[in-house]
Amino acid sequence: MTKRTVKDVDVAGKRVLVRVDFNVPQDEQGGISDDSRIRAVLPTIEHLLEQHARIIVCSHLGRPGGVVDESLRLAPVGRRLAELLGRPVTALADCIGPEVEAAAAGMRAGEVVLLENLRFHPGEEANDPGFAVALARPADLFVNDAFGASHRAHASIVGVPRLLPAVAGLLMERELDVLSNLLGDPEHPFGAVIGGAKLSSKLGMLESIVGRVDHLLIGGGMAATFFRSRGLNTGRSLVEEGRLEAVRRLEDEARARGVRLLLPSDVVVTERLDGEDGGRTVPAEAIPDGWAMADIGPRSIAAFSEALAGCRTVFWNGPMGVFEQPAFAVGTRAIAAALARLGGVTVIGGGSTAEAVTEFGLADRMTFVSTGGGASLQFLAGEELPGVAALPER
Ligand code: ADP
Ligand code: MG
Repeated sequence: MTKRTVKDVDVAGKRVLVRVDFNVPQDEQGGISDDSRIRAVLPTIEHLLEQHARIIVCSHLGRPGGVVDESLRLAPVGRRLAELLGRPVTALADCIGPEVEAAAAGMRAGEVVLLENLRFHPGEEANDPGFAVALARPADLFVNDAFGASHRAHASIVGVPRLLPAVAGLLMERELDVLSNLLGDPEHPFGAVIGGAKLSSKLGMLESIVGRVDHLLIGGGMAATFFRSRGLNTGRSLVEEGRLEAVRRLEDEARARGVRLLLPSDVVVTERLDGEDGGRTVPAEAIPDGWAMADIGPRSIAAFSEALAGCRTVFWNGPMGVFEQPAFAVGTRAIAAALARLGGVTVIGGGSTAEAVTEFGLADRMTFVSTGGGASLQFLAGEELPGVAALPER
C-alpha cells in the first residue's frame, strides 16, 4: 500500500485519535449480534498499546440523525472492546467538549477511551469544520482504521485528517491491499458471485469487474432484473425497470470479453417472503404469476459450485436468497461452503454476506472478509474513497 500507516510513525506518548467502524449489528435487546467489526481493529489498537500511545477511539453507530439516541450509545461496544483487549476502556458521554478534553488530558500511556457516537452531533455527517476542529483538539495524531465508513465525506473521515498528521490503520491497510489486488493482479481464473437485493447499488461495481473476471455468477433478488431483461416472466419478484438497459449492456460486455455470465437456471419461489410456506423450486423460465423469487435452486447451486471450484480467486458480494429465513438460506449456505472448500483467494464483501458467512461459522475459512459494504463496492467500482484520498502517501 502507498499510504502512510500507523507503523510508519512514532506514536509513543502521543494522544492518538483512532476512527474505527464500530457500526455493529444489534439484536432486539440492543446487544451486539456480531462483533467482527470490533475484532477487526484489534491489531491497530494492540499495536498502539505496545507503542505506549494514549488511545482515543471514535466511531458512529446507526443513524441517529444528529441527536442523542439512547439505543445507539457506544458504551456496550466499549465493554466488548474491553473484554477483547483484556484491559479497561473508558466510554465517555460525548465525543467533543470540555469533558472529553479533560479526560484526554488526564490519560496515561496505554490507556484507552471510547468517545460517544459521532453521529449524535449533526456536524459529523455535515462535515462541519467546527466539529472537526473540536474532534481533533485533544489529539496529536489521527489514524483512520474505518475502511467501512471511508466512502463518506464526514467530519471524522475527511475533516480531521486536514487538521492533524494522519495515517492509515492496519485494517485499512489490509482492506486496501486485498481489494486493490482484485482490481490489479488477481490469480486467474477469477470468479465473482454477486447477489443481494438491490442491483442499482452494485451496478458500478459490476461494470468495473466484468472486464476483470472469467466467471460472473448472478444470484439473489437482482437476478430478476436480468431475467426480465431477457424477456422472462418474473412474477412478483422485484425488478428494477430503470436498469434493464444497463443489464443488457453488461451482458453484451461479458459476451464481448468472453466472460462466462451465469444466471440461476432454477429458483425457489414463494407466495410469502416470510418463509412460512418454504417455497417451491421452478425453472427460471417458469416463475408463476403472483410468486416471487426467494433463493436459487439446486441446479443453479450445482452449476455455480462447479464454476467456482476451478477458480483461483473469488469475490463474493450479496446473498443468493432471503437467507434470513432458513427456508431460503440454502443457496447462500451452499456458496459459502463452496468458497470454504476452495484453495485459492476468497474475498467476501457486503454487510449481509459477511453476516451470513459468520453465522454459518465459515468466516475463518475465507481469505478475507471485508468490513466495508458500501465502501468496498465503491472501491471496486474504481472510485476513490474520500477517506482514503484524505490520507497522505508514504
Ligand atoms: P450485502 O449487504 O452483502 O451487500 P445486500 O445488501 O445487497 O447484500 O442484500 C442483502 C439482502 O438481500 C438480504 O436482506 C436478503 O434477504 C436480500 N435478498 C437476497 N435475495 C433476495 C431475493 N431473491 N428477494 C428478496 N430479497 C433478497
Ligand atoms: Mg447490505
